[in-house]
Amino acid sequence: MSECPRCKGKSINLGQVTVAIGKTRGKRVNVNECVDCKLLFYEALEEE
Ligand SMILES: [Zn+2]
Repeated sequence: MSECPRCKGKSINLGQVTVAIGKTRGKRVNVNECVDCKLLFYEALEEE
């Protein structure tokens, strides 16, 4: 699990979403939420 980029706290994983890049491409990312400051942040998945 990745650490929060703002407070370095623990984060929980909310699942994966596909973010559109341009008209035809997409990228899978993990959505994480920090348990301390509630920051939502994305983490790119190394795949494809
Ligand atoms: Zn945080």
